[in-house]
Amino acid sequence: MSSKPKVLVVEDDPSNRELFLDLLSMGGYEGIGTDKGEEALGLAKRELPCLVLLDIQLPGVDGLTVVKLLKAEEETKRIKVVALTAYAMRGDKEKFLREGFDGYISKPVMVKEFLGEIKKYLEE
Ligand SMILES: [Mg+2]
Repeated sequence: MSSKPKVLVVEDDPSNRELFLDLLSMGGYEGIGTDKGEEALGLAKRELPCLVLLDIQLPGVDGLTVVKLLKAEEETKRIKVVALTAYAMRGDKEKFLREGFDGYISKPVMVKEFLGEIKKYLEE
């Protein structure tokens, strides 16, 4: 069994998802990926990640719905959930916090900054 901190990546864009998983691996994390919002809650309950990186725009159940599901369940409500969004415009941070996210990372991610962001959320 791995003792690396687990991070669940919910992202439907395959190249983005692979990039995030590669970066997490480089950073010493165990990344778990899915392209489906429908799978996020079940995976989170089973794997108990310390952090969920959650794309807002997903083809089925979207990120805004998934974060509410995660925050509504006893087993998953303490897991940090960070939005992955291409729409990092002024005012959006407050919107994401209101929606239940613990923060957001805007895409495209800067490789050098990404792991720093992850570490920051895990230490908060
Ligand atoms: Mg997407």
